[in-house]
Amino acid sequence: MNSFDGLHPVIGGRVLSVDGDGRVLLDGRRPAAGDGVARAITALVVHGLSPDAPERGIAVDQTNTSVIVDDRFVVKIVGRWAAADRAGHLLERLGDAGSDDVARVHGRVAWRHPELGESTLAIVTEYLPGAEDGWTWAVDDVVAAVERGLDGPGDPAWPSTLGAQVARIHDVLGADASPSGADAASARRDRAADALARAVAAGEGAAGERLRNRREALARDIRSLEGTAPGLEFPIHGDLHLGQVLASPDPGAADGRRYTLIDFDGDPQLDAADRERADAAARDVAHLLVSLDLISAVAQKRLGRPDDRAWSWADRARAELLAAYRAELSRAELFDAALLPGFEAEQLAAELHYADRFLPPWRYAPDAAITHRYASTNETPESPWTPPPFEPTST
Ligand code: ADP
Ligand code: MG
Repeated sequence: MNSFDGLHPVIGGRVLSVDGDGRVLLDGRRPAAGDGVARAITALVVHGLSPDAPERGIAVDQTNTSVIVDDRFVVKIVGRWAAADRAGHLLERLGDAGSDDVARVHGRVAWRHPELGESTLAIVTEYLPGAEDGWTWAVDDVVAAVERGLDGPGDPAWPSTLGAQVARIHDVLGADASPSGADAASARRDRAADALARAVAAGEGAAGERLRNRREALARDIRSLEGTAPGLEFPIHGDLHLGQVLASPDPGAADGRRYTLIDFDGDPQLDAADRERADAAARDVAHLLVSLDLISAVAQKRLGRPDDRAWSWADRARAELLAAYRAELSRAELFDAALLPGFEAEQLAAELHYADRFLPPWRYAPDAAITHRYASTNETPESPWTPPPFEPTST
């Protein structure tokens, strides 16, 4: 692996540093497209890169900076010390196994720091021109399927494709899975019960009423985790949802698209140490199944009405994804379907709570899925779920 060494190495003419909070900075700032840093990093792992290869920005979020270099490479520069070690390691394993379910890794660049040790500074992967994430392409597909009104025959085929892709990824990452601890069942139940308790405590307004009426049904599914076997665990994706699935044009594919799974940074809701921890394969599968329900909710927002056909689509998509996952998974012992109900209930509660705290406009989506999927005790009077008005600029 290529590396920069020292307390303040220079990259593309800019001085690298890590501040007291662990933030990785260049010339005291976050790197950005146009500053030459991503190009200099790419030049270390790709031979013959032009010295004036262009840089373009894609997404800037709290933790990382991704820059497109020469319209061929994506350079993800770590926002915090050590935050990309997990992703770098997992992507390399998948690359070594010949996986084309993830973007091809061209190289990884490390920083050998005299006090902190060695850590991944940046990962250079192939750029997928024309890629969109699932909050765009999957919603478009579901809206189109509902509007065609065929209720089945017109469904997109990608739920099966994704199920098989996740199975292949699990087969690689689970090659050295280890037995979970004897207390795994109660630890999983406690974690899920906490997520539900937090969501109930924070839930306000109409969504809060609908949640409270379904608290018992969610709690029942969460309690079912108690009786499950410890099973096996390994480094799963950890944050699998349709937003992590890019579709890019592929004239050779039956539906004209290549699907690529990205962002192996782990669950952003966990702190750094917990993110490194191994988990059960069923966690990724549960998150993806929940994500299909959330896509259905976003599609109903776009349609401007609650629409049972979008839920019928989600039912079929869930069944297809799960069947394809099971059929493709070689190491069947990695997957325990008994964990799904509890993990799904936890994930919906966590989504709702996250929306309550950080993203209120997103509340409607987990609210829709909870309302549709779980039986109500009708303790509190509630209004039926309806989507918020559709604004073309948001999901
Ligand atoms: P972050 O952890 O900062 O969210 P991601 O790896 O999830 O970074 O990527 C952020 C966004 O960048 C994605 O949603 C996608 O739009 C775009 N992106 C990531 N990888 C690629 C790629 N290989 N080709 C094209 N676009 C990409
Ligand atoms: Mg992401």
